[in-house]
Amino acid sequence: MDTNSDPRINFENTEIAFRQKSDNELKKAYWLFKLIGSNFLTQIGPPITNFLLKIGVPLKWAIKPTIFEHFCGGETIAECEHTIAQLHEGNVGTILDYSVEGEEEESVFDATCEEIIRTIERADGDPRIPITVFKITGIGKFDLLAKLDAKQPLNTAEQEAYNRVHARCLKICETAYLKGVPTMIDAEETWIQDTIDSLAMEMMERFNKEKLIVYNTYQIYRHDKFKALQEDYKYAQAKGFILGVKMVRGAYMEKERKRALELGYPSPIQKDKAATDADYNATLKFCVENISGISFVCGTHNEESCRYLVDLLQQHKISANHPHVYFAQLLGMSDNLSFNLAHGGYQVAKYVPYGPIKAVMPYLFRRAQENTSVAGQTGRELKLINQEKKRRGL
Ligand SMILES: Cc1cc2nc3c(=O)[nH]c(=O)nc-3n(C[C@H](O)[C@H](O)[C@H](O)COP(=O)(O)OP(=O)(O)OC[C@H]3O[C@@H](n4cnc5c(N)ncnc54)[C@H](O)[C@@H]3O)c2cc1C
Repeated sequence: MDTNSDPRINFENTEIAFRQKSDNELKKAYWLFKLIGSNFLTQIGPPITNFLLKIGVPLKWAIKPTIFEHFCGGETIAECEHTIAQLHEGNVGTILDYSVEGEEEESVFDATCEEIIRTIERADGDPRIPITVFKITGIGKFDLLAKLDAKQPLNTAEQEAYNRVHARCLKICETAYLKGVPTMIDAEETWIQDTIDSLAMEMMERFNKEKLIVYNTYQIYRHDKFKALQEDYKYAQAKGFILGVKMVRGAYMEKERKRALELGYPSPIQKDKAATDADYNATLKFCVENISGISFVCGTHNEESCRYLVDLLQQHKISANHPHVYFAQLLGMSDNLSFNLAHGGYQVAKYVPYGPIKAVMPYLFRRAQENTSVAGQTGRELKLINQEKKRRGL
């Protein structure tokens, strides 16, 4: 049984969690998580799928109605309409996430920038889409960001390329400001993150003076990030803008540790999970205690973190729908958290990734791997789906 200080919240309530899912959708989700739970398939799946897609084998028929449909809204904004409406039925907002990754061409960066702007325009005036999001690597070359991060000198062509990244970022945030639609900048690998952080701080200082428009992301699996957040808050206070914080634990742990080991520098990751969890709680507490100057999104699938934030809000007598607090999860995961929190009156939104199938494959592989590597996540999803299947007599 759930225990938190808000009697309206029960994360075990699968009726509310899956109300929006038809019997067929529920059964499909069950088989999908069964498949994902198989470590073997998740290990061999990505290289085989990548190879087949590369040599032009049409796999869309297999991917689209299964893993893609579960974790993504569609290939275009128009195809996401069904998901937007479905989430809204449970009072959960949509965060349209154009999830094209790993591109290298300037023309693709321009096109991605325009598509992100379309997500902001689509959100404009539609309360069902309360926040938008983008990745800096969607609008600029990874290697270029890494060079800047390493403080290596740029040649003229590289400087011009970076000016274009800056201009794209500015255009997105300016559109968000003019339309009054908040936008979040995702966090990525540590060796490009200083560049992303400085862009995000510049945008926040520019656009967050009257209300929250831009959020930066803080990966709390990094041992330096809770402190960095407190420094950023001091700076924001001194400069008179609201700090936008999306706090997550962090998605690239294995990659980060491997690189640090290979290149012989100290790992940027906390010593263990307990240290990450302790700092995550401390971050939530700090944000709640400074809620007038910080607007934050708690991005997590961890029940304890959600409970802890609910408790903190109760203790501080902050209303569930305070405009500076959002909970966020990813589409297709932890519906028991999203829909039960929303049912209790909290503000919740889910990332709804979309884009051409081939381009969103890295995102899908990350989800599949996360659901095997994150201890207990698949088991938890399966248990809840099973519980709901039984309740419905399926
Ligand atoms: C709405 C939303 C937005 C997101 N945006 C981003 C983003 O912009 N950038 C990004 O990197 N990720 C992002 N993520 C992913 C996120 O960082 C986590 O990978 C994912 O949510 C799992 O963490 P958790 O809090 O949900 O769950 P939990 O299961 O409690 O935590 C798992 C996480 O804990 C950390 N961890 C696990 N083992 C250890 C260990 N031994 N030592 C130290 N730490 C450990 C890792 O970060 C791991 O992913 C986002 C997630 C959500 C829900």
